[in-house]
Amino acid sequence: MSRLVMKFGGTSVADLERIRRVGRLVAAEVEAGHRVAVVVSAMAGKTNELVAWTDGAGQAAQGLDPSDDEYDTVVASGEQVTAGLLAMTLRNMGLRARSWLGWQVPIITDEAHGRARIDDIPPEKLVAALDAGEIAVIAGFQGVTRDGRISTLGRGGSDTSAVAIAAAVGASCCDIYTDVDGVYTTDPRIEQRARRLAKISYEEMLEMASLGAKVLQTRSVELAMAQRVPVRVLSSFVEPGEAPGQGTIVCDEEEIMEKRIVSGVAYSRDEAKITLFGLPDHPGVSALIFSRLADANVNVDMIVQSRARTTDVANMEFTVGKRDAARAVEIVRAAQAEIGFEDVAVDEDVAKVSVIGVGMRSHAGVAKTMFTALADKGVNIQVISTSEIKISVLIDAAYTELAVRALHAAYGLDQL
Ligand code: ADP
Ligand code: ASP
Ligand code: MG
Repeated sequence: MSRLVMKFGGTSVADLERIRRVGRLVAAEVEAGHRVAVVVSAMAGKTNELVAWTDGAGQAAQGLDPSDDEYDTVVASGEQVTAGLLAMTLRNMGLRARSWLGWQVPIITDEAHGRARIDDIPPEKLVAALDAGEIAVIAGFQGVTRDGRISTLGRGGSDTSAVAIAAAVGASCCDIYTDVDGVYTTDPRIEQRARRLAKISYEEMLEMASLGAKVLQTRSVELAMAQRVPVRVLSSFVEPGEAPGQGTIVCDEEEIMEKRIVSGVAYSRDEAKITLFGLPDHPGVSALIFSRLADANVNVDMIVQSRARTTDVANMEFTVGKRDAARAVEIVRAAQAEIGFEDVAVDEDVAKVSVIGVGMRSHAGVAKTMFTALADKGVNIQVISTSEIKISVLIDAAYTELAVRALHAAYGLDQL
């Protein structure tokens, strides 16, 4: 009998009626002969509420301090509730089930509280329960450090819990159930003409996720790619007796017959742009700036430097996550004399819009299409960054939706 992992996100377990619907989907897979491990998120909105409480208790003032284990004690609690409720629901349907918290599995993580990474999942206890015919309902998002403290995997982390469990128990597939019936060419909430992709490669999904498409957490895709776990994205919003559709299969590039040049458009509003004016233009300046930021664990995303024509000074722009912006400014200000820049400015009204596709490796003209489509709509590009399979631009946040729709049309994604 094959083992299967089914993961249900916040909107899929938002109330008892939806939890019962999840129960029916799980029951159908058990009837089909699978040994099922279920991973659940907290009810929709619950984690935001818990995070707000920790902010109120002083967490926000410090930024996310990795040593703060109490943040995790609070925010992990939402998943405990849904795991218990689903296990109860399954029992009431006459099925054998029990809940598992992160420490009970155990899902062992490092000590980076608030964004912990999974180090190990000893599979023996789970496998024994599954093979004895019991449904394992596992609280997603949470783990335990080696010294016994509760940890969490970063926002959206239940996806990563699910893929890690699938790898640990040798599941044939990891089904991620959510409120959309698959991965779309762009966020269907922004562009109604977005199309569902039947298949997407791990590489493209990884870029889509890390560039803002929150349908899967980035780390879950990284892990699926590394461990070769087949992932499917499906909708849990099906009527009783109705089967979830085909969804989207995330798989190796070689398994996708029809290669597209561009597969999707993603956006992120979680960026802030920092500009340093009047930087001395000599070796070592960038090294100094980015070492200081790295020492403080601030992740830098896009970077652009430009040199004035007549003087020996340059300006530099870079982006960081919004939550890190104030801290990043503090850090560079503290080193102003040493770095030697004249002034610093921060702009939070920016968004990053990206186009992604493995076909870019072998096709010219992708950038031209992107820049032309944005120019036609009067959208100014502030920063550009590229990799082998994506192009990202930073723009005024007010134009995010306009830009996403323009690019979606420019690459013909509404006609797939
Ligand atoms: P869950 O609570 O199930 O984990 P999320 O809210 O984390 O669900 O992710 C699902 C949401 O991701 C969808 O409602 C959709 O708005 C958004 N999304 C963004 N980009 C995409 C995309 N390319 N395809 C599908 N959904 C996307
Ligand atoms: N409940 C957590 C969050 O909202 C984890 C998840 O939903 O995946 O971030
Ligand atoms: Mg999610």
